[in-house]
Amino acid sequence: MIKQDQSSASSETQTVSILGSTGSIGQSTLEVLSLHPQQFNLFALSANTRADLLLSQCEKWQPDYAVLRNPEQAEWLERSLLEKGLTTTLLHGSEGLDFIASHEQVDIVMASIVGSAGLRSTLAAVDAGKKVLLANKESLVMAGALFMRAVKKSGAVLLPIDSEHNAIFQCMPTPDLNGSSALCAESANSLGSIKANGIRKILLTGSGGPFRTLPIESFSTITPDQACAHPNWSMGRKISVDSATMMNKGLELIEACWLFNCSSSDIDIVVHPQSVIHSMVEYLDGSVLAQMGHPDMRTPIAHALAWPERVESGVESLNWTQMNGLTFEAPDNQRFPALKMARQAAEAGGSVPIVLNAANEIAVDAFLNELIPFTAIIDVVQQCLEKIPFEEPMTLDAIEAIDFQARELAKDCCQAFQKVPS
Ligand code: NAD
Ligand code: MG
Repeated sequence: MIKQDQSSASSETQTVSILGSTGSIGQSTLEVLSLHPQQFNLFALSANTRADLLLSQCEKWQPDYAVLRNPEQAEWLERSLLEKGLTTTLLHGSEGLDFIASHEQVDIVMASIVGSAGLRSTLAAVDAGKKVLLANKESLVMAGALFMRAVKKSGAVLLPIDSEHNAIFQCMPTPDLNGSSALCAESANSLGSIKANGIRKILLTGSGGPFRTLPIESFSTITPDQACAHPNWSMGRKISVDSATMMNKGLELIEACWLFNCSSSDIDIVVHPQSVIHSMVEYLDGSVLAQMGHPDMRTPIAHALAWPERVESGVESLNWTQMNGLTFEAPDNQRFPALKMARQAAEAGGSVPIVLNAANEIAVDAFLNELIPFTAIIDVVQQCLEKIPFEEPMTLDAIEAIDFQARELAKDCCQAFQKVPS
């Protein structure tokens, strides 16, 4: 039974927009918000296609706005909102997302759209100087330099939701919180170089996914449902497949370089199958700080929503007596070539991470639609990385042009891999 927060009455109410409220992160965010009705007020929700779920979220939360990205069910949703006597205004398309991300009444934006589709609206929240809770790692992978410049320029507070990055943030030196909220905002994203903070390295942990010990010969027959059955985490299908190829850890490596202003050589990937430690920071004196907890995204979500304070997340205490040991391994680079690819992409910068991300999105989608085998995902990404020449994009349009080019090429590559019907 979840208890209502008793301590929130004194805090000022913060207004929240959720980009991607029908997804796994979006729904977990609503669960945390439901524990703190006095502290947070919901302004807007959004979905791509699940109009029925968006409708029931509107019924429960009665937000000011809802955005349906895909126009096909817009008429049905508009009519249903009216029939139910709801005053929620329905908006459409990417303009609607930008509107709810940057509206002056909004304090906090949860950026939890999956994939590159989340880039523009997340940037709109950053440009508007919001407190941005970043789940959409793909936007940093694609546009890290531009994104971090925009954070600095607007004074937005960028807080990581990805459990590993949230853990690293919690293990970093505490920003000076004695000043105004502006000072908090400044210090959250300007830790300076990790070496100047006495940090030797960042230890980015990952479970190794569902196929850590499966014989490699069996990889070609892996089905989408097998790939989405993560041993520890319950997540959306795209990130679940990314976890199965360990491309997720690769994308997270690039994400961490931008968030913590370091290079990929400052980050070691450590396989930790139990997912109890969510990442660690090692200091020059040999101290290692780890953040631990149940593998439940409500913890990082609650941490970021309330930061720099702490609130209940609904997640239970770890039961130390029921833990069967915590183990650690080096990642298997032969089994998971995505790790090396992503490290090289982090080092190369420019267009390379954009191509990596775009080709991966297309290949994962093709795999989930049973058009290509599991093993072809990495082959498609590799082919795109080899074929698309290096560029240094300076604008969002240039980034999106490379993204588009990589997607088109990846689609061609997928077609070449498609199974011949028997
Ligand atoms: P999901 O597939 O469950 O949900 C995705 C959300 O994005 C849905 O609300 C969907 O309607 C919306 N969406 C999809 N395509 C869209 C489009 N073209 N335009 C507008 N909206 C669109 O995904 P998820 O697992 O919640 O992951 C969301 C993001 O959070 C991803 O970037 C993922 O890498 C990251 N993340 C997720 C987890 C997790 O535990 N699920 C953990 C860490 C990071
Ligand atoms: Mg993660």
